[in-house]
Amino acid sequence: MSFDYDLFVIGGGSGGVRAARIAASQHGARVGLAEESRMGGTCVIRGCVPKKLMIFASGAPAAAAEARGYGWTGATEGRFDWPLFRGKLHEELSRLEGLYAGGLRAAGVDIHPQRAKLADPHTVELADGTRLTAKHILIAVGGRPSLPGIPGEELGLISDHLFDLDTLPARVLIVGGGFIACEYATILNGLGCDTTIAYRGDKLLRGFDGECRTLATHQIENLGITLRLNDSPTRLDRDGAGIRASFSGGGAETYDAVMFATGRAPYTGGLGLENTGVIVGERGQIEVDQWSQTAVPSIYAVGDVTDRVNLTPVAIREGHSFADTVFGAQPRCVDHSLIASAVYLRPHELGTIGLTEEEAAEQGPIEVYAASFRPMRSLFAGSEARALMKLIVCDRTRRVLGCHIFAPEAGEMIQLVAVAMGMGATKEQFDAAMAVHPTLAEELVTMRAPVRRAGGATV
Ligand SMILES: Cc1cc2nc3c(=O)[nH]c(=O)nc-3n(C[C@H](O)[C@H](O)[C@H](O)COP(=O)(O)OP(=O)(O)OC[C@H]3O[C@@H](n4cnc5c(N)ncnc54)[C@H](O)[C@@H]3O)c2cc1C
Repeated sequence: MSFDYDLFVIGGGSGGVRAARIAASQHGARVGLAEESRMGGTCVIRGCVPKKLMIFASGAPAAAAEARGYGWTGATEGRFDWPLFRGKLHEELSRLEGLYAGGLRAAGVDIHPQRAKLADPHTVELADGTRLTAKHILIAVGGRPSLPGIPGEELGLISDHLFDLDTLPARVLIVGGGFIACEYATILNGLGCDTTIAYRGDKLLRGFDGECRTLATHQIENLGITLRLNDSPTRLDRDGAGIRASFSGGGAETYDAVMFATGRAPYTGGLGLENTGVIVGERGQIEVDQWSQTAVPSIYAVGDVTDRVNLTPVAIREGHSFADTVFGAQPRCVDHSLIASAVYLRPHELGTIGLTEEEAAEQGPIEVYAASFRPMRSLFAGSEARALMKLIVCDRTRRVLGCHIFAPEAGEMIQLVAVAMGMGATKEQFDAAMAVHPTLAEELVTMRAPVRRAGGATV
């Protein structure tokens, strides 16, 4: 049977673009790709990129305060011009979108700028009714924010909307306690918004190392963000130009905006999966094996729609590995066991890789090495903020099982720790590295004695 394409990709985000480009340019496949919105997907248009630029923008008041601490009398942050910044932001996003589309075209990929759904295991149907066949189909449609299901929630925003607001809200409620909630609260606080987080748990950043969660929760509170822990809105109502949120813990408050950061779900609705036999799991995720292949041999899925590890580099690696495996005769599957990530907070970020102390202690005897200190740079400028460097070490093998850094630029540091841990480095190998002085990261190679042992018998 002859097909219109060797590969048809649904979704032009991190995973889909990489797979399409590699299959076409490196392995000579005939590739079509449908994107219903803007090329680049969540990371480029609505996630990592605009968020990080806003983190930079929101750091200006802290930078000015630090400059004053270093003797720059009169250093002030000035006034933040949101429309000016927003215009520049959108220019940058359009530039990146153009690069993504240009890269695909240069690779010879046909771009179909419309929604696609599956008609059968080898056929996609575009929104305009066109049907196209492909030997292989890759589903890379990502995820979408999920809302808590409370009355009036349609009055709230999701993270996608933030970059398009006409004005920044003077008073904003962020609902949720994950990395997106914490990062956006940090951003809006830095841009001068009176910010509240409502989260139903007792500590932010569930799933991260417990000690780091405590530090992050305190840092967020110390920025002046109001925390409503063990509390969440039960309904939203219009209140003049504002939105009134009623809380489970009692009471109600009116805000200029409410933003939900209450999780994300795979975006499989209306995709025509029922026409194919692809299996969908409990969380709505497409079930795949280690080769990203679904239960239907011609259909693969990568990225957030598979709900494995929902990060851009993971989606990219999965897309690349899929293309090499299926079109390049170079079988590669992705190891999801050791993935570094960062939460961009201020003044200290959280960089993390491997097991948390809690997870490691459940698996066997461990040593915990930790250094808590006030970094030289911020201390001199008058800040009491404390950093934490933490290594979790297996008592038996001496391998470093986890590393958690709560410090300025922790995202940059954890990237390099990932290289060492990926090679199976032991605590003694960390120690053998000569320190770079004076730096924050030198703490990672100078922690001599464990601060505690956990998880059973120790040597
Ligand atoms: C606010 C926010 C911040 C984030 N920050 C980070 C970060 O700092 N670091 C990090 O690593 N990750 C971050 N992420 C996660 C990261 O953005 C995702 O893991 C990544 O984008 C997943 O890539 P993907 O290819 O699976 O899906 P996506 O990038 O979501 O791409 C899917 C694409 O498919 C398109 N599409 C969907 N359905 C169809 C259809 N039926 N037909 C045609 N097109 C369709 C969509 O329009 C979209 O463009 C963040 C996410 C969010 C929401």
